[in-house]
Amino acid sequence: MDRPGQILQASQGVAVTLRRGQAIRIENVHGSQVVDTWAVSVDDPLEYASMEHTRSWNSSIFVEESMAVVSIRRRQMLTMIADSSPGRHDTQLCPCSAELYEQLNCHGRHRSCTDNFHEALTPLGVRLSFTPASLNLFMNVPIAEDGGVTRLPPASRAGDSVTLRAEMDVIVVLSACPQDITPINGADHTPRDIAFAVIDDCQTRN
Ligand SMILES: [Zn+2]
Repeated sequence: MDRPGQILQASQGVAVTLRRGQAIRIENVHGSQVVDTWAVSVDDPLEYASMEHTRSWNSSIFVEESMAVVSIRRRQMLTMIADSSPGRHDTQLCPCSAELYEQLNCHGRHRSCTDNFHEALTPLGVRLSFTPASLNLFMNVPIAEDGGVTRLPPASRAGDSVTLRAEMDVIVVLSACPQDITPINGADHTPRDIAFAVIDDCQTRN
């Protein structure tokens, strides 16, 4: 059963607690928005989704439908149970940060996915002294044979969505990426809103 959807405003972050068996559907309302995504265990915040373990588990550098997102302890945290987008969600590049925007010659404070991650967890009493690598939903970063990466606008269309099912009790953090210097959030360099909804009673893997 779907609960009412919510809007996550452009450049903002949110933390959503999911019990095992619940899922979250993340909709790319305009098609052009990247969503940096993390999972942190409810029971122990030092168990979090690890992109290096996830790549090893799936034998893939992308997370696609039916693939798992696993923790730093190699336990399944999430499963991507549906994906209407062209897929190829990035696991390689780090979340944007205040330092990155300084290096891009932004003047003054620029919102970042790193800040969104920590700000979203604060009301839940969760503080981490580091920022895990993010699963970058809808982020279009092809990897060339020589290992080079290219930052392209998302290939997703308006209304495309991804659904992630919780395989344990987790806090999912979403950041509607504020990047407006590179074309990673669309050729017009404009961060936009996304939508999300919690779904109850999804069958779990085991
Ligand atoms: Zn970002």
